[in-house]
Amino acid sequence: MKRVYLKTFGCRTNLYDSSLMLQNIKDFEIVECEEEADIVVVNSCTVTNGADSSVRHYIHQLNRQGKQVILAGCGAMSKGEELLQSGKIFGYFGHSEKSKINQLLKEEKPFSARGDLESIDTQIVTDFASHTKAFVKIQEGCDFNCAYCIIPFVRGRARSMDEAMILEQVRTLAQNGYGEFVLSGTNLGSYGKDSGSSMAKLLKRLSEIKGVKRIRLGSLEPVQIDAEFQEILGEPWLEKHLHIALQHTSDAMLRIMRRRNILRDDLALFELISEKGFSLGTDFIVGHPGESESIWHEALENFKSFPITHLHAFTYSKRDGTHAATLPDTVRGDIAKERMKILEEIVAQNNYRFRQSRTEPHLVLVEERKGEYQVGYDQFFNKMQIQSELNLEKEWVVIERFEARSEGNFATI
Ligand code: SF4
Repeated sequence: MKRVYLKTFGCRTNLYDSSLMLQNIKDFEIVECEEEADIVVVNSCTVTNGADSSVRHYIHQLNRQGKQVILAGCGAMSKGEELLQSGKIFGYFGHSEKSKINQLLKEEKPFSARGDLESIDTQIVTDFASHTKAFVKIQEGCDFNCAYCIIPFVRGRARSMDEAMILEQVRTLAQNGYGEFVLSGTNLGSYGKDSGSSMAKLLKRLSEIKGVKRIRLGSLEPVQIDAEFQEILGEPWLEKHLHIALQHTSDAMLRIMRRRNILRDDLALFELISEKGFSLGTDFIVGHPGESESIWHEALENFKSFPITHLHAFTYSKRDGTHAATLPDTVRGDIAKERMKILEEIVAQNNYRFRQSRTEPHLVLVEERKGEYQVGYDQFFNKMQIQSELNLEKEWVVIERFEARSEGNFATI
């Protein structure tokens, strides 16, 4: 039996896709590292030029070790043909073909199986090795056209997974012992637009499934949080944390980035959700072309007004084939890094203050042991480090008292 290793680059959606691929490999032995493998499937990311070069570098190493390389994921759509023609990979397949992986691994001649950008998974993942929480993909693709982003070109337009299939998957996972569910997708909040449903409707149905204790959402767009969604914010099964991707806090910059959100509405939305006791995360791209000194200073002042407690900040990284890659007024990398650091420091302070202010019981799903602590996340998506004689792994624990330090929350039980 030939041995296969699957390497994943990129985002949570790719991680999910990898789980689906692994589930479909039947006639090969799945191994834990490249060294042991005959064939390596690279589930790639192509979000920036940097992501492309990481994948290329990895493939180069595999070539030197004489492994057979098969490319999957977003990079297969953008770079698959070129890498196949140059003999760096044995074959590639697109997102729509991943359920055929077992058959594709048996190909004896170099192959391309690009597939299409319209179809959507018709299979579900029923188990996640070594995870305490289950990831559930509910949609694919994006209809937005942000200046810096290549994703719509490699994952296609927004389309929703079949609702009955999502419910079935969550039911199965709940029966398998999962209590926390993380919903993901390329543009999660567009779920239901094509099927007459909505995020709020789906969430309500999911919450009715026996065993579903907590639902966490991946990244949402501010313009997608409508009145119907706001009505479910008080539900006990919804994690008290939302990640809402602002990307910037200057209207001038948001226009250059071709974003759909605007500052005034963003701020009102964040204040409203924060007042309901939520912690709030966001994405922010620093140093996008056009981020002049004056735009940056305006954005920074605005940013300070937002109740943001969690931050994924990125320095802009060029992606060929996008509108942003053609724009003048680029920002030096060291300046972008400085700016990013300033934002991170602000959010670290906000997060500390938030943690100090929360005195209610914290519900923690313990995920793993790290040194002397058992570690998990509470309902605000903050880490809790617990010292205990008991083995709490994969357990739900109610923490009544804890110490909020600048470096994190600590408890003893
Ligand atoms: S919303 Fe914008 S950044 Fe997000 S995937 Fe769509 S185009 Fe890319």
